[in-house]
Amino acid sequence: MKPLRHLVVVLGDQLDRQAAAFDGFDPAQDRVWMCEAAEEATHVWCSQQRLAVFLSAMRHFAQALREEGLPLHYSEQHPGSLAQALGEALAATPPQAVVMTEPGDHRVQQALLQACAAAGVPLQLRNDRHFLCSREEFAAHARGRKQLRMEYFYREMRRRHRVLMDGEQPAGGEWNYDAENRETFGPQGPGFVPAPKRFAPDALTQQVLELVRTRYASHPGQVDDFGWPVTRAQGLQVLQTFIEERLPDFGRWQDAMWEGQPWLYHSHISVALNLKLLHPREVVAAAEAAWRAGRVPIAAAEGFIRQVLGWREYVRGIYWQEMPGYLELNALDAAQDLPPWFWTGDVPMACLRDAIGQTLRLGYAHHIQRLMVTGLYLLLHGVHPQQVHAWYLSVYVDAVEWVELPNTLGMSQFADGGLMASKPYAATGKYIERMSDHCRGCRFKPAVRTGPQACPYTTLYWDFLMTHEKRFASHPRMALQVKNVARLAEPERAALRRRAAAVRAGAWDQA
Ligand SMILES: Cc1cc2nc3c(=O)[nH]c(=O)nc-3n(C[C@H](O)[C@H](O)[C@H](O)COP(=O)(O)OP(=O)(O)OC[C@H]3O[C@@H](n4cnc5c(N)ncnc54)[C@H](O)[C@@H]3O)c2cc1C
Ligand code: SF4
Repeated sequence: MKPLRHLVVVLGDQLDRQAAAFDGFDPAQDRVWMCEAAEEATHVWCSQQRLAVFLSAMRHFAQALREEGLPLHYSEQHPGSLAQALGEALAATPPQAVVMTEPGDHRVQQALLQACAAAGVPLQLRNDRHFLCSREEFAAHARGRKQLRMEYFYREMRRRHRVLMDGEQPAGGEWNYDAENRETFGPQGPGFVPAPKRFAPDALTQQVLELVRTRYASHPGQVDDFGWPVTRAQGLQVLQTFIEERLPDFGRWQDAMWEGQPWLYHSHISVALNLKLLHPREVVAAAEAAWRAGRVPIAAAEGFIRQVLGWREYVRGIYWQEMPGYLELNALDAAQDLPPWFWTGDVPMACLRDAIGQTLRLGYAHHIQRLMVTGLYLLLHGVHPQQVHAWYLSVYVDAVEWVELPNTLGMSQFADGGLMASKPYAATGKYIERMSDHCRGCRFKPAVRTGPQACPYTTLYWDFLMTHEKRFASHPRMALQVKNVARLAEPERAALRRRAAAVRAGAWDQA
C-alpha cells in the first residue's frame, strides 16, 4: 500500500455512501475511519434505544464498506472521545489529510478541528449534500431580514427545487393546506391504524442489543421493543410503506393523539433521514409522485413535504446560523430542575405517562406529543432549557443536535425569545383534551385550575401568565392571553400560586 493519503472520517449520523467525503476515494491510498466513542454515549445520558440504533446502523454501514472492499479502521467502544480516538489514529499512521463531510454538530466539528490541528494534519470539510439548503444558502436567505419565518423560506425552497409547482404557481393553487390538517379522531378514536414497518433484529443488531443491555444497563429506557431501520434498504422500506399506507391520512391527523397509539399516521422516517440512510430529495419526490398519481390528497402531500423540505431544512439553517451562542439562551429565565419522573414516566397525569412511557420504550413520540405534551409541560413548569435540551437529545432515536436543539430550545421552550416561534406554545389542559382521549382516563380535570383536581397544565398555564405578565403585556400575539390574568382577583392568584407550587413539588393531591 502507498503512504496514507486521506483518512476519511465517517460519523454515526453520516452513513451515506454517496456523501462528498467519498468523492475520489482511492482504496490504494485512502482509508475510512469510524469510531464508537464512549463520550458520544455519555455526554448526555443517551437512552438505550438511541444507542442501539446508532451502533447497529454504524456496524451495518461498516460491514457494507468491507464487503465493497474499502479499507476501514473501525474502533468498537473506544473509552474516550471522538477527538481523542482520532488523535490516536493520526499519531499511529499520519495521513496527508483528514477528509470528512461537514459534521451536523457544532461541538463535534470544533473537537475534530482541534484534534487535527493538534496533530498537524489538515482537515478538509466537504459540503453536506444531504441537505437541500447549504449553510451558505441559508445565511444568504437570512441576510438583511429583520425576522425569519419558516413559511417564506419554504416557498423559496419549493421554487428553487421545483417541488409541488405548476409553472410559477404552487400545485393545487395554495402554498399551505394547514387549515385542512387539524382534525381530531372524535370520541370513537382512530379505529384501524396500519401497522408500522418494523424489523426483527438480525445477528449484528442482536449483538448490539446485548452490548447495550450489559454495558449501558443504567441508561434510560429499554431495547426489548427494537425494530428501527438500520440500513438504507430498510429505510427505503419504511418510506415506501408510509407512502402507500399512511400518507393519504397524514395531513388530516397530523396533530391528533390517542392513548396507547404511538405510531398513528406519521412516517417514522426521521431516524433513517438523520442517520443519512435516506435522502430528503427522494422522500419529497415520493410524496409528490403519490399526489400526482392521484393516490393521496394535496393537503396530505403538501403537509408532509412542508415538514421535510421546510421545517427540517429551516431548523438546520437556524442551528448553524446561531451556534454556539444558541445553546446558552434562556429568554424566559427558566430555572427549575427537570422533574425526575421524566426518566420513568411514573406520574398520575395520563397524557404525560403515555408520552414518556412510549418514548422510553420505543425512542419515539410524534411531533405534537413532543411539542404539546412533554414540551408544553416543561415550558409551564419552568425547567432550565439546557436540562430540557439534554432530555430530548437523550431519549429520541432521531435526536441529533442540529435538529433537536432549535425544536427544543426555540420552538418548544421559547428560550430564544421568538426566533423559532412567534409566541410561546402555552396552553391549558383543554388543548390536550381536544386533541386526544387522555383526559377521559385521568384523575385531573382540564377545565379546573385550582384545588387537588386541577389539571397541572391548567394551573401552570395561569401561573406562567402571572410570572410573565409584564414581559408579554405588549407582545402582539400574547397580549390577549395576558389580559385575562389582569382580571384575576388576589385570592384566586394566591390559590393558583399555591397549587402551582404543589404541582412542581410533585404533591399532586395537595390544593
Ligand atoms: C421538542 C421537540 C424536539 C424534537 N426533536 C427532534 C429530533 O431530535 N430529531 C428530529 O428529527 N426531529 C425532532 N423534532 C421534530 C419532530 O417532532 C420529529 O421530526 C418527528 O416527530 C419525527 O417523527 P416522524 O418521522 O414520524 O415525523 P413525521 O410527522 O412523519 O414528519 C415527517 C418528517 O418531517 C421532518 N420534521 C417534521 N417536523 C419537524 C421539525 N419540527 N423539525 C425538523 N424536522 C421535522 C422529520 O424529518 C420527519 O421525519 C422535535 C420536535 C420537538 C417539538
Ligand atoms: S387532565 Fe390534564 S394531566 Fe390529565 S390527561 Fe388531561 S391534560 Fe393531561
